[in-house]
Amino acid sequence: MKIRSFRLGVLRIPLKTPFKTALRTVEQVEDVVFALETDDGRIGHGSAPATAAITGDTHGSIIDALRSHIGPRLVGGDIARLGQLAAIVQGALMHNTSAKAAAEIALHDLWGQLHDAPLYQLLGGGDPRLDTDITISVDGIDKMVADSLDALARGFTSLKIKVGKDMATDIERMRAVHSAVAGRASLRLDANQGWTAREAIHAIRTLEDAGVRMELVEQPVKAHDIDGLREVSANVRTPVMADESAFGPREAAELIRTRAADIINIKLMKAGGISNALKMADIAAVHGTECMMGCMLESPIGVSAAAHVAVARSATITRIDLDGPSLCTRNPVHGTTVFDEAAIALGDAPGLGIESIDGIEWLD
Ligand SMILES: [Mg+2]
Repeated sequence: MKIRSFRLGVLRIPLKTPFKTALRTVEQVEDVVFALETDDGRIGHGSAPATAAITGDTHGSIIDALRSHIGPRLVGGDIARLGQLAAIVQGALMHNTSAKAAAEIALHDLWGQLHDAPLYQLLGGGDPRLDTDITISVDGIDKMVADSLDALARGFTSLKIKVGKDMATDIERMRAVHSAVAGRASLRLDANQGWTAREAIHAIRTLEDAGVRMELVEQPVKAHDIDGLREVSANVRTPVMADESAFGPREAAELIRTRAADIINIKLMKAGGISNALKMADIAAVHGTECMMGCMLESPIGVSAAAHVAVARSATITRIDLDGPSLCTRNPVHGTTVFDEAAIALGDAPGLGIESIDGIEWLD
């Protein structure tokens, strides 16, 4: 099975409600789609969203990286040599982790088709059913409480509460959500780099002292403030998870070794794809550190790939934040992966199990 050509497209999916964090507001999912075609007529799909505020990657940069640097190097490649092809993707250019992720997802989709097995089985196997949390956007306190109660009614038992806009209001936000849902859902707090270390320690201790139980606090300080992250981790009882500070395997190793974070949030778009996401999970496993599998606000193509990785590394990836599809109005990706609110189920079709995708606007 050799790669004959590649195509690029754009897939847009409206969100049910705008997605708001301390960093940005998003109205719709808008992914670049990367499709690899083989000499025997197979198609492998990958995708990547533009998350300029997080990865620095824009639609323009993702498209150019795939069209001019990564795609041409893959044409003629043999899918049976997946490791070599992943190395070609990683070496094609610096940075550009989203474009690399899209390319690796498409390669792994084809690799599963080559071996006629779902991707998670080839990566190690596991129970192909996952439970995801759901994100509660940062907003007015009443709106966040209403959104949290609505999520409970939809069957979610784990809520990821976005804060980081203003510390004093953030404490009130968390207290209000906690008293509305206490005992019925676990709370994960994501400040998206919105606090200083001093503010984070004060906010988290205040919440702890008020009896607000949090499963974890995610990325309280700026991505590059590793000393600050370590300071927060050392001074609160709640486990601290690194997200924007933990891009790839190198950062994960450093954060774990220096005890700057208790938990690592792995995302394919930060890591540059599946090969590096697996390395991150394996580095964490060596140290007995647990991970979360996260996603951007992105299409079910990329989220499905992340779910396959999470299933295959479930001993280490103990938390799932793959709520992209449940925030969308519809799922244009038809296949064997089922996203049903909190429940994600991977089918037994080869690769990512994609049969067809509605509404891709092909470029060129
Ligand atoms: Mg986060």
